[in-house]
Amino acid sequence: MSLTRRGLGGAVLAGGALAAAGPKAWALNAPAGGKTAYGDFGIDLTAIDPSIAPGDDFYRYTNNGWLKTAAIPADRSAYSGSMRETTETRTRAIMENASANGTANGRKITDYYRAWADEAGLERRGLAPLKPELARVAAVATPADLARSLALLSWGDLSNPNGASRPDAAPIVAGVSVDVKQPTRYVPSLSQGGISLPDRDYYLVDAPANVATRQAFKGHVARLFQLAGYDDPEGRAARVYALEEKIAKGWWSREQSRQAEKRYNPHSRAELAALAPGLDWDAYLGAAGIDGQAVYIVAQPSSIAASASLARDVAIGDWRDYLAFRAIRNFAPCGPKAFREADFEFNGKVLQGVQKAPEQWKTAVAQTDRALGQAVGEIYLARHFPPSSRAQVTEMTRNLKTAMGERIKSNSWMTPATKARALAKLANLRVEVGGQSPPRDYTKLEVKPGEAFENLLRAQAFAHARSTGRLGRPVDRSEWSMNPQTINAQSNSTLVKVMFPAGFLQPPNFDPYADAAVNYGAIGRVIGHEISHQFDDQGSKYDETGALNNWWAPADLERFKAATAALARQYDGYEPLPGLHINGRLTLGENIGDLAGLGISLDAYHASLGGKPAPVLAGLTGDQRFFLSFAQTHRSLQRENALRQQLISDPHSPNEWRAAEVRNMDAWYTEFGVKPGQKMYLAPDARVRVW
Ligand SMILES: [Zn+2]
Repeated sequence: MSLTRRGLGGAVLAGGALAAAGPKAWALNAPAGGKTAYGDFGIDLTAIDPSIAPGDDFYRYTNNGWLKTAAIPADRSAYSGSMRETTETRTRAIMENASANGTANGRKITDYYRAWADEAGLERRGLAPLKPELARVAAVATPADLARSLALLSWGDLSNPNGASRPDAAPIVAGVSVDVKQPTRYVPSLSQGGISLPDRDYYLVDAPANVATRQAFKGHVARLFQLAGYDDPEGRAARVYALEEKIAKGWWSREQSRQAEKRYNPHSRAELAALAPGLDWDAYLGAAGIDGQAVYIVAQPSSIAASASLARDVAIGDWRDYLAFRAIRNFAPCGPKAFREADFEFNGKVLQGVQKAPEQWKTAVAQTDRALGQAVGEIYLARHFPPSSRAQVTEMTRNLKTAMGERIKSNSWMTPATKARALAKLANLRVEVGGQSPPRDYTKLEVKPGEAFENLLRAQAFAHARSTGRLGRPVDRSEWSMNPQTINAQSNSTLVKVMFPAGFLQPPNFDPYADAAVNYGAIGRVIGHEISHQFDDQGSKYDETGALNNWWAPADLERFKAATAALARQYDGYEPLPGLHINGRLTLGENIGDLAGLGISLDAYHASLGGKPAPVLAGLTGDQRFFLSFAQTHRSLQRENALRQQLISDPHSPNEWRAAEVRNMDAWYTEFGVKPGQKMYLAPDARVRVW
């Protein structure tokens, strides 16, 4: 059925009166006694603006009521509803009281959290916790000392499960990862890092915004040196910046670094020394805990070589400043108030455009999440993720997998041999809901009351030891890098699995009481997105065992590339900020995921109806609700600096343009009566079809 814009607008306005009373027939597996977060069946009808034609601007048609009234909280760089606040409040309650459960993990959680949240305690301890770190850095005198300090920087940041992390602290980042050519074993790896701004472009592209950010960064470095009691803070800041700029010049671009086969460069110990002379590799690998290995996988050889030569060519005094700055910035978020303010002024205000520093308890929540997140998550799952929700989402994941299988089988351009491999991969794909099981073991992490910074250093060392301890062991496919309370979802190519944490499975992403069309338009399309990552421009390079191994017939690969190139061009055409377009190549994998996810989720929704017609609710067809739900889960507000940073460095397109994928869906045209001449209209042969 197809409605004109007027017809739909009228139906929506009448929605309240038309909604059926009594049992919610559409929420079949929901626990009794609850209700949807939005309206009768899970869609925020108050946000729809009938004065805007869906075919001109579907995002604003669907969301304008919300966009006009919502505001970004002063301490945030973006806002897309209350999901994050809900999770923050829940995890805070867990962290404040976990010690009461009498377990070792419970005590660690509460001690870690309280030390970070106790502003008076942070003030009282002053610079004392930082002093040993600065003394260690000040003693760096020889090439071997420098190499050891650079290796330790590899664990100078705990990964942030809640979002994009800044570049790694070390110019050469030592790590341990699954061998992508032999995914049953772990291998040591070396990759680029060592700059403070979000990407090399900030140093190398002279756009006015970048020049301003550089100036602010130098001021920030000088301010931290001054607070830590150093003389000549401006001179030191200039030297730190100059060194980072040299490192940035050696960096690979984000698009280059996305190419998995280019990142796979095995080197023996001797080949490593020949590739990258200038660094004392014995000292470096020893301190990194990865010496004596048969092979090292070098991600960006020219970048690693450039940084190694800087270790030799840049004066050791400049390196001491560089290392001191890294030690101080590691300390700043749990230092006295002046440090925390300086940290926020740059990392929050300048880089993200945030107006007000978050209250310290929010920082404490985020930091405890990084250090002990899976222990927190065990409690989160027990309190906030009922078995009924797990069952509902698991059933959807099964339906989405089936729908993807049907798409592969009915695909018109794939040869039978490639199809068989694709189906084998799909059969081996693990789908995990909730969180890692069993959760991470924190026995060896020591946490002491009142020692925020020392606990952070211990957590960083624990993460380091956990990572290097995997060398020589079989690969554990059950591992997650996200926590159960994380608001995100992931696909892992080498482990051949997709993961949906409980924190993500809350309204509007998933609502146990919502109508099926609404859940398929929301969480369903995310499940489809993650599944399709296994088959996108990068994921398609990994076979059914997770090995980086081309399994495509050449002709199939060409057709796949041609289809996806059209999508890259479509996104290159969008210009979210004046002069700054979306990078269609950088965002290609995510955009393929969005398009494929939307398509297979609509299929899965149709299949879930079991041959019966979809109910019409408040005058809306099932497919209309599906698309409205899809666009509503993308509503968000973002500060300009954060948007600029996203456009330069993030493989995800900004939300408004992610929602524009509907332009490629035939069903969207019929359901909303979209006609030639409307702004979002694409002729049928210009609509991109990947699967
Ligand atoms: Zn994705």
